[in-house]
Amino acid sequence: MQIELLAVTEKAEELIEFAARVCYRSHAGAQEGSAGKFIARLLAMGHESPLEHACATFHLQGCSRAMTHQLVRHRLMSVSQQSQRYVTEAGFEYVTPPALDKEDGREYDRDMETIRAMYAKWKARGLKNEDARFVLPNACASTLVITANFREFRHIFRLRCARHAQWEIREACTRMLRLLQPRAPAVFADLMELID
Ligand SMILES: Cc1cc2nc3c(=O)[nH]c(=O)nc-3n(C[C@H](O)[C@H](O)[C@H](O)COP(=O)(O)OP(=O)(O)OC[C@H]3O[C@@H](n4cnc5c(N)ncnc54)[C@H](O)[C@@H]3O)c2cc1C
Repeated sequence: MQIELLAVTEKAEELIEFAARVCYRSHAGAQEGSAGKFIARLLAMGHESPLEHACATFHLQGCSRAMTHQLVRHRLMSVSQQSQRYVTEAGFEYVTPPALDKEDGREYDRDMETIRAMYAKWKARGLKNEDARFVLPNACASTLVITANFREFRHIFRLRCARHAQWEIREACTRMLRLLQPRAPAVFADLMELID
């Protein structure tokens, strides 16, 4: 899996502080470096809506469709995912669960070869991509770009970095959290305990 942080709101914490201080008419209290403490107070109060003014965009590649199906359920996230209608899955890449040992891994590879052959067979018989894809596995690798605001990312990370989350979505969200936290330390600090 490859994950890249494509874009993040500049001076995100200062922007969140500015927006939230509008609520309290307290801009006089804003100083160099005051945003972190101010945001910590917002979070402690449960006043999370100012976090919606900052957002981030990630590019994820080499994730299974099993994982992306879970990720894209988050409704406040914007998603652009590689299509299985417009892009052929001939010779598709796939993700292997780490639970498989070497021997099982070889059998799994053979299964994937069988499915590649099934896909090729149906394409050769004239099916369009949109129908041939019915035989594809959840393991099929996908690529997507996602954008969400910081409030939604906090929600996603809280659920998906949890220890009982499924391994692949946990890995993806853990890596996204590690990339995002340095860009807005106060916003994501409390979530680091989920992954440290
Ligand atoms: C451990 C776990 C197990 C799961 N198991 C299953 C399963 O077996 N089957 C299944 O179908 N799904 C399952 N899901 C997915 C889950 O049902 C949600 O689809 C997913 O978590 C995304 O929705 P969300 O409510 O978390 O928040 P998001 O869609 O990310 O939205 C963020 C927040 O916005 C608010 N919000 C968004 N939309 C609405 C709305 N329409 N009305 C009111 N408030 C809204 C809510 O406060 C929500 O928490 C599972 C998720 C987890 C974390």
